[in-house]
Amino acid sequence: MRPEAGAWDVVVVGAGPAGLLAAGRAAMLGARVLLLEKMEKPARKLRITGKGRANITNMKALEEQLREIQPEPRFLRQAFQAFFNRDLIALLEGQGVATKVERGDRVFPASDLAWDVADALVAWATGQGVEILPHARVERLVIHEGLFTGLVAARKASRTPLEIEARCGILATGGQSYPATGSTGDGYRFAEATGHRIEALRPSLVRIETRPAQVGAQGLTLKNVNLTLWIDGRKQASEFGEAEFTAKGLAGASVLRLSRKIVDAMAAGRKVELTLDLKPALDPAKLEARLLRDLEAHPGGTCTALLRSLLPAPLVAVFCERLGLSPSAPAAQLQGSKRKQLLGLLKELRFVVTGHGGWEEAIVTAGGVSLQDIDPRTMGSRKIGNLYFAGEVLDLDANTGGYNLQIAFSTGWLAGEAAARKALAIQGPPLG
Ligand SMILES: Cc1cc2nc3c(=O)[nH]c(=O)nc-3n(C[C@H](O)[C@H](O)[C@H](O)COP(=O)(O)OP(=O)(O)OC[C@H]3O[C@@H](n4cnc5c(N)ncnc54)[C@H](O)[C@@H]3O)c2cc1C
Repeated sequence: MRPEAGAWDVVVVGAGPAGLLAAGRAAMLGARVLLLEKMEKPARKLRITGKGRANITNMKALEEQLREIQPEPRFLRQAFQAFFNRDLIALLEGQGVATKVERGDRVFPASDLAWDVADALVAWATGQGVEILPHARVERLVIHEGLFTGLVAARKASRTPLEIEARCGILATGGQSYPATGSTGDGYRFAEATGHRIEALRPSLVRIETRPAQVGAQGLTLKNVNLTLWIDGRKQASEFGEAEFTAKGLAGASVLRLSRKIVDAMAAGRKVELTLDLKPALDPAKLEARLLRDLEAHPGGTCTALLRSLLPAPLVAVFCERLGLSPSAPAAQLQGSKRKQLLGLLKELRFVVTGHGGWEEAIVTAGGVSLQDIDPRTMGSRKIGNLYFAGEVLDLDANTGGYNLQIAFSTGWLAGEAAARKALAIQGPPLG
């Protein structure tokens, strides 16, 4: 650290996407900024996002992106207005990282390497003058007469705790999913200890366990299927896209998108079911006509041969079992009520939801620091005037598609700007 440091203008806890943007923006405005990270390297989680490719944002318009966010999308309007998808792309391009847009308006680095994005953000922040201290685990915040005055951190190679004074603090400690990346929920404890309300924490964007689990189809990914969620027998939502069979149930993009509602319904003790429409492009009448044609065309065939013309191979045994037919039975047995049953299975393959993946594997944390306690214009705490929050530590989460990272970048930028303004007493209109 700089010898003259003494008191910093802004200290940021957590060098993930939110913390890096917060620290860099505050330094850009002239603040002396210290960024503490408990892991050896900054942005561990960012480096594994998007299966190592980092879906960093989405090109959808602001209002459309807000629709992907829960529980309070309007809370993010000012943060998105301050720093949005094009600002992020320009920042990265300024660091030599080109980007590309893929299906669903999702933005990735052109290199397909999340690592490039993480390194570019670290270089950008240090280029603004941010001092990054790795292996520094913040243990508690120091509050004096209702204001944040600094914090206490433990360093890996030292027994003596590090006491840091600062005019403003920003908590960007992330959620509590994927704890191996460093986000172990510390920020929630700091927030609670300083009088903030924490909304119940739940794993989200997570795989689902079902009965039956269809072990025989494990590893099969279906594209262009429709998945419908039923809670207490009532249809709640449908998602079109990919579904994957796993050892214990279902995963894949459409399952992840429904998982938030599923986790909440299960926590409330409600009956949760999923149905899979394997032929969403065909209505029941068209599907029945197709089935009758297939039966006529193969009068002497087996059930397996007929089902194979309708289904991927791993699902044939699953269907025979659910229909109560031997795979070698003649296809002619698929007449009358059996044909109706088959049609029902193709349009509504039903699963009872029995559980979901845990914190080790959830992509995001739902719940967190209550938005009631945060000013959306600044990300500042309504409880402690010079304390700010950014990123997943807040009670905000989104669908897959690059929105979660955009939340981190936008709230980080706004928190950094507001903290620098406060620390340096900068007045007036928006800053460039
Ligand atoms: C496998 C996976 C894939 C994902 N893919 C995508 C994707 O493609 N697109 C997308 O938009 N989102 C994706 N996400 C979600 C996204 O990564 C997170 O929402 C985002 O990283 C949150 O940013 P953050 O800065 O708030 O928190 P984090 O990235 O979690 O960073 C928090 C940092 O704080 C540090 N920290 C915590 N406690 C302390 C402490 N006490 N002292 C010091 N430092 C501390 C942590 O070590 C960590 O580095 C993915 C998540 C996972 C797990």
